Amino acid sequence: MSNVTEQIKERIDIVAFITDFVPLRKAGRNWLGFCPFHPNTRTPAFTVFPDSQSYHCFGCKASGTVFDFLMQRDGLSFTEALEQLAARAGVQLKPRTEQDEQEDAQRSRLLDINAAAARFWTHILLRSPKGEAARAYLEKRSINQAMIEAFQIGFAPDDWSATLSYLSDRLNVTPQEAEAAGLALERESGGYYDRFRGRLMFPIHDAKGRIVGCGGRALGDAMPKYMNTPQTLLFDKSHLLYGLHQGRDTIRSGDHVVVVEGYVDVVMAHQHGFRNVVAPMGTALTDSHAAMLNKLTKRITLAMDGDAAGQSAALRGLETLRENLDSHVKPVPTASGMLRWERELDAAITIALLPPGRDPDDIIRADADEWRALVAKAQPLMDFYLTALTRGLDLASAKGKAAAVERLAPLFNQIGDPVERAHYSQKLAALVGVEERIIVDSLRNTAPRSGPAHPASNRKAPPPPRALLTQLEQEAQREDYLLSLLLRFPTTQPIVAEQLRDDLATAPALRDLWSGEVSELFDRIENRVLWEAWRTVGPGGPPDPVRWAADLPPELAEHCARLLNWPDDPPIRTYKVAHETQECLGPLRRRLARRWNDRIGQLIVAAEAAEQERLMEQAMALNSYLRTTSEPRRSTYFQDTRDSLKY
Ligand code: ZN
Repeated sequence: MSNVTEQIKERIDIVAFITDFVPLRKAGRNWLGFCPFHPNTRTPAFTVFPDSQSYHCFGCKASGTVFDFLMQRDGLSFTEALEQLAARAGVQLKPRTEQDEQEDAQRSRLLDINAAAARFWTHILLRSPKGEAARAYLEKRSINQAMIEAFQIGFAPDDWSATLSYLSDRLNVTPQEAEAAGLALERESGGYYDRFRGRLMFPIHDAKGRIVGCGGRALGDAMPKYMNTPQTLLFDKSHLLYGLHQGRDTIRSGDHVVVVEGYVDVVMAHQHGFRNVVAPMGTALTDSHAAMLNKLTKRITLAMDGDAAGQSAALRGLETLRENLDSHVKPVPTASGMLRWERELDAAITIALLPPGRDPDDIIRADADEWRALVAKAQPLMDFYLTALTRGLDLASAKGKAAAVERLAPLFNQIGDPVERAHYSQKLAALVGVEERIIVDSLRNTAPRSGPAHPASNRKAPPPPRALLTQLEQEAQREDYLLSLLLRFPTTQPIVAEQLRDDLATAPALRDLWSGEVSELFDRIENRVLWEAWRTVGPGGPPDPVRWAADLPPELAEHCARLLNWPDDPPIRTYKVAHETQECLGPLRRRLARRWNDRIGQLIVAAEAAEQERLMEQAMALNSYLRTTSEPRRSTYFQDTRDSLKY
């Protein structure tokens, strides 16, 4: 697989690629532009380095290769970026099997069918007498023509076979194909009929803007009020958000997303210029949703019905939905789950409480400023829990106090930042009127135990023939090995983190260049992506790494399995792990420093006088850093050929 990413990097020039998105001008050997990832309009901070085929922003420190650029810019997953870039580079991802071809063909057929159905429904809505009631409904809800077009809203006629007939006429769609697209149902007595009848239709787009399914809202009292495409080859509601396709750019540039419940809420918000509003499809937010949003912004606001019943329903829902959902819908935000997201995604989740009984659609239609104010007043998640979870308790009684602490303690323990935790302990102490010490003690008693030990894995594959490793392969191996150590031995994580922190502490001039993140040490995109995914699961990584690895996209699964089953030879002793880690870290840190040394050298040549001083300072810091990091001793794993010959 690494061959594929390497091939792609060889075939796609990063300057040519990025110029399509960001105007760049030449500065010496490198290229400069305004950063697409942070507000940056005065001095261009975004630099593209053709030599290393990478970019770096001196403002927000976004950096990486064409892969990272595409993933960051469009919020794509690694697999999605890989597919797009492979197509552009004309690189075959893997030997295609017949089954792949069939699935691809089926997928593209389903996309055609979905698109055709949406066109049909829009036509009915806008032009057909059968769309009369739907037109009246949209008019009553004041949804305008521009939104109908932007969201491709339509109306499925109240007819058992109108959609089926249209699809059959236009695209020769068989009833079985329509069923596979989620548009038809089979009768027990044989034959097929339209799934969506007499419903306002909201097509749902994927990240690439293709229609992969739809939601239908009943016009009258028909039940259910909302009906979605079932799970199909294309449609997985746990990975889709309504309005995200239309709102992506606004969410990124405004660095904020608001999550509401209904399709009409989203459309109405967009119509009034609030284009950062999205909705999940009849489920609570899932981990995948959170991860998708997190790629675009760290600021997530959930709009929630403000009446007490609604809130406690929401909270109860948060805790119990997990069991009730279809098995394919992955974890659902329990109250503590949401705090976990906040911590792991390093996001700020806030709650906007809506006036009782009103939904965003009503509010925005009546007064857009009211919506603006409600969102601006959104409260931090923990503040919300503090009131919501203690509502109805008699906080004057001992029993009530105990219940409040009991409900909130598990959540407090999820707060990552100790200062913030202390802040909320004080708040809770004040709220229930007990000494803070008592709160802190109860929190300690409910603290979660530390994670599981490192995974057991059988490491019996034959070691690679070392004598044949070239210098570059050794380097690639070394970063693989470091990641393998990180994944297999959680004790290595603080060692690496501390080393990187120390580096920046002793050489502050490097802070503009280095983020101090572990993934910076990795050149291979697979390693960076794997590490980020691993970290996101939690401090100790996934409880069952082998299973976790198996669930990764195939492009990563194989590589991850290899790292988890690293063929240590001789078998690595626990007491050697720290030493081995340091042995890897040295050369990888120096590699990073050398690369920056080259870059800064180039930048100085092209820079203006005022800029040169700062760059000189960085160059000096890099040089002294390189001098002080000692030359590598040989690790047990990376013996070179001379060593082998001696024995
Ligand atoms: Zn930037």
